[in-house]
Amino acid sequence: MILTVASFKGGVGKSTTAVHLAAYFSTKARTVPVDGDPNRSATSWAHKERLPFEVVGEHQAALYARRCEHLIIDTKARPESEDLHALAIGCHLLVLPCTPDPLSLEALMLTIIALKRLGSERFRILLTIVPPRPIPEGENARKAIMDAGLPIFEGEIRRLIAFQRAVLEGVTVDRVKDDRAGFGWQDYAMIGKEIEHLNGETSKRPRASEKPLR
Ligand code: ADP
Repeated sequence: MILTVASFKGGVGKSTTAVHLAAYFSTKARTVPVDGDPNRSATSWAHKERLPFEVVGEHQAALYARRCEHLIIDTKARPESEDLHALAIGCHLLVLPCTPDPLSLEALMLTIIALKRLGSERFRILLTIVPPRPIPEGENARKAIMDAGLPIFEGEIRRLIAFQRAVLEGVTVDRVKDDRAGFGWQDYAMIGKEIEHLNGETSKRPRASEKPLR
């Protein structure tokens, strides 16, 4: 399976999502994260060699693709509408992290036409860095996205300080010593399960023009 992670804005947890989905899928099968973001966040995260996988650059991806079951591709932030389409048809699922704040939602809504053209099977929006209830931002953002008719993961990623410590320590969040870190891992594991389910469903009914790549 090829998963691509892209975002309309920086700082929305795109690289965090790519690294944690790679960690989730690496518990199932050989998985390689590909760092296609010029900021190289995922690559520097891996520098301490404490992640359960190697992070490779775009130019090495083809070589690794032959030897692994899953590729998780982190892309540059703010793709153009045309890029989005190209990204979506080059993978099984395009994951679009979005934080529940007005600026992120606005950036998301601006690309709404390009998104709708992709078809709801090709992409999912993931709410990230969601503040705890009773802060209403998460719920409001979910409602706005659903009202716009865009597909969104049922799960979401809560805001936890442990994610910031994970980057500094060069580990995934489950390895951070913090009472709440486990919740962060559970959140990404839920998304991993949703993706497995979606991938199972879409590979059962391939469309002529968009066959699963496997
Ligand atoms: P992007 O790739 O979109 O620029 P990053 O994944 O690099 O975003 O995350 C941006 C910042 O937000 C980093 O400091 C990261 O540790 C932090 N972060 C990411 N996800 C969360 C979260 N769920 N809760 C709290 N902080 C987060």
